[in-house]
Amino acid sequence: MSHLAPYPVGALATRMLREFDTRQEIFDLPARRFVLGDARHDLSVRLHGHTAATPFGPAAGPHTQLAQNIVLSWLAGGRFIELKTVQVIDHLTLPRPCIDMQTLGFNVEWSQELTLEQSLEEYVKAAMLIRILEASGRLALAPGFGRTVFDMSVGYDLAGIRSERVQAFIRGMMDATPVIERLRRQLPAELGALRDLDFPTRLSDSLTLSTFHGCPPNEIEAMVEHLMREHGLACVVKLNPTLLGAAEVRRLLNDVLGYTELRIPDAAFEKDATWAQASAFMDRLDGLARSLGLGLGVKFCNTLIVENHRDFFPASERVMYLSGPPLHVLAMQLVRRFRGAFGDRLPISFSAGIARANFPDAVALGLVPVTACTDLLKAGGYWRGFGYFEELAQRMDAVGATTIDEFIVRAYGAGGPTDPSAARLRNTELYVERVAADPAYHAAANRKLPRKIGRKLVFFDCLACDKCIPLCPNDANFTVRMPSTPELPLKVAKQLVHFADFCNDCGNCDVFCLEDGGPYLLKPRLFVDRERWLADAPRDAVLIEPDATTGRFGGEVVCVAAGQGGGDDPRARALQGLREALLDPAEVNHVSEYLRVHVPG
Ligand code: SF4
Ligand code: SF4
Repeated sequence: MSHLAPYPVGALATRMLREFDTRQEIFDLPARRFVLGDARHDLSVRLHGHTAATPFGPAAGPHTQLAQNIVLSWLAGGRFIELKTVQVIDHLTLPRPCIDMQTLGFNVEWSQELTLEQSLEEYVKAAMLIRILEASGRLALAPGFGRTVFDMSVGYDLAGIRSERVQAFIRGMMDATPVIERLRRQLPAELGALRDLDFPTRLSDSLTLSTFHGCPPNEIEAMVEHLMREHGLACVVKLNPTLLGAAEVRRLLNDVLGYTELRIPDAAFEKDATWAQASAFMDRLDGLARSLGLGLGVKFCNTLIVENHRDFFPASERVMYLSGPPLHVLAMQLVRRFRGAFGDRLPISFSAGIARANFPDAVALGLVPVTACTDLLKAGGYWRGFGYFEELAQRMDAVGATTIDEFIVRAYGAGGPTDPSAARLRNTELYVERVAADPAYHAAANRKLPRKIGRKLVFFDCLACDKCIPLCPNDANFTVRMPSTPELPLKVAKQLVHFADFCNDCGNCDVFCLEDGGPYLLKPRLFVDRERWLADAPRDAVLIEPDATTGRFGGEVVCVAAGQGGGDDPRARALQGLREALLDPAEVNHVSEYLRVHVPG
């Protein structure tokens, strides 16, 4: 299994700026897809004493694990960054593949793959890179459109949260000065004054609590109490869709929406908090938060446990976690029920089946933040964020709204409440009534499999459709221009290659590639570190070092010194061609910047 390897901050920073200057892209996202705001729409929202320039963000998950993912999410308009959940058990072996986006959205990944210390460093790096990007003056950001909130997420039980290492993580996020100063020294001199920026040191003072499916309600309450009292954090409690009760969840999922194949094990309901228990502890925690002067909110919702009825994940996985369109309907029912009980007293953070069409509705309900994960894993990946904002702008313009509050009041027609708080409640009733009847969420509309052309991928040449680039949450796939020569004849000018340090074998690019076999398995798998290349054996892989290129092909090793021709061996010619293309002075990519900045000479 591949393991993620964080990339040095110096190489990330120069890569980001050089790539923008030479190609008008950052981490392979084209500038025409950046969400930079405009003077006509003020999309800012407030939560727990902070202002964010938009209500949108990446949900805690694959898009918020590595520094470059967070920067990509930010470029896609995310201003609430829900950082990937961390926990004390940080050396897990997770099943692979772990993400199944063929139809709805299932996963079996639930925890961070980096150590706690690496996670802290990645989050600090991301904040520094965003600051560098803003200060570089390269982006035409609308005034105030840079305002960003980082939200921590920790799990999964009280003992883990009280452990010294998790406490150190939280303290590190609340005062990142030592990490910033260490990383600052790794920024290369060519960045000039950008090395001396006043980087924000208080990265976060809010946290979304993530709990295991089946976490007892008294444990949830004790964790929030601990986080508030010991760390002074504003807290959001993420709750499970099982809160609706077994009969209602099954009625909606199986009968109303028609997902007859999805079976929820009885055990999923047995240990989870009931509605009465969750309402009671949210009420008590509200009292505590008020007494401490801290923010409290609720998040709808966690994924739903269903039996693993498909053959995508390893058979050892008895259950999997459902997201996507059906979860949207369940989570919206929870929003309605919660507001029925609590009114507009507590803010609601929302993540469940968010996509272009429903993003403006979630905003119109006053949900903050509105975060996405499943949709960003579909074809288009990070590019999709741009569509969310296009849709929101169109909907706002249609009702003449220039701010989010104006949109909340006007989104569902005139004649309703003029007060945003009352409008949030009214809009909830209207939208939730409508959404379960919307065919877009029904099984019939969500059965289509991604297209395949029935051809197997090989080392070089493919359809070069670029689909596998933006939908990889880690930016592990990229293209490099390679000329066809008599020694190395190629069919296409752009070759898809794969940077193994950024890949965790999630399997998502395989699902959407038009050809078979998986880009992450069959395209050139590039390493820049010998130890990691050796540890990856026996898989085929290419190691690019300053003085040589080495390939492992079916267990056989072929090495070519830098500057040498490939000779008669077609594998050596392939290695040499790859090296020349990747390290061409006009290229800026994962390999070139690593060798140029991190191991110069
Ligand atoms: S390259 Fe493919 S398998 Fe690897 S992390 Fe990206 S999407 Fe997942
Ligand atoms: S590997 Fe597949 S998805 Fe990626 S560019 Fe080639 S054909 Fe397209």
